[in-house]
Amino acid sequence: MLAGQNRVELVYKDGKYSLHCAITGLIEKPEKPGDKLAAIDLGEIHAMAITDSSEALIVTGRALRSIKQYRAKRLASINQAMSRCKKHSRKWKKLLMAKRKLLAKTRRQILDLTHKITRKVTGWCIEHKIGRVAIGNLDGVQRNTSRKKAALKKQKSRKVNQKLSTWEFGKQTQLLEYKLSRVGIQLKKEDESYTSQTCPACGHRHKPKGRVFKCRCGYIEHRDIVGSLNFWRVNKYGEMKPQPTGKIIVKYLRPFVLRQKKVVVPAEPQALPKAG
Ligand SMILES: [Zn+2]
Repeated sequence: MLAGQNRVELVYKDGKYSLHCAITGLIEKPEKPGDKLAAIDLGEIHAMAITDSSEALIVTGRALRSIKQYRAKRLASINQAMSRCKKHSRKWKKLLMAKRKLLAKTRRQILDLTHKITRKVTGWCIEHKIGRVAIGNLDGVQRNTSRKKAALKKQKSRKVNQKLSTWEFGKQTQLLEYKLSRVGIQLKKEDESYTSQTCPACGHRHKPKGRVFKCRCGYIEHRDIVGSLNFWRVNKYGEMKPQPTGKIIVKYLRPFVLRQKKVVVPAEPQALPKAG
């Protein structure tokens, strides 16, 4: 599909109409794209962490997480209420409607946030004269594991899967690729396994607990920065290449100015009978 200029489209989805307008010029095009390399680490606490090995940007994922937590909570209570009434009854149908509405709405909110996150990252890339960006390819990681390993992994990561669906990863990558390509920056999908467990300074491997990576050699860094820094080196030198590593200048951004109370409006609380 061609994204034409000055294009307006009426789209019907999830039982609602929305008007899609193509607007040019939201991201300022650089005169000439840079040639530096950057690497991205995708995650749950932070939505995206990107580094060029001396500076980094972390876009927090808190807003995304709160939408998902809200969705899970509401879904659970709707499902519970549905299980208590007769299938296909009026009440049951009402609850089903509420469920569909909730899913459609939170999906739109997540998509909107994903747009904002990828826009921030694109802006950072322009500012830092980036020409190429490496991002973890999750398909590749899944394909490369053996079946037995995959089964084990599935067990372990069920919780993680709940938090971050492949749909979201795919959407984040897709939107980022689109936004970057508009300003002449290339996005490359690469395998990123284990990059967050290796110390960038001495190469010692361990699984960090919590958000801070603390190595026995004395190296301390934000865990997400470690992941993206190692990933950056893999893409730069073909290996993680531990070496004396200084502190990276980190900038934190929210995808938008928080108005959390207005982001999620509970749909028809009256459709939900109180427990008991
Ligand atoms: Zn170390």
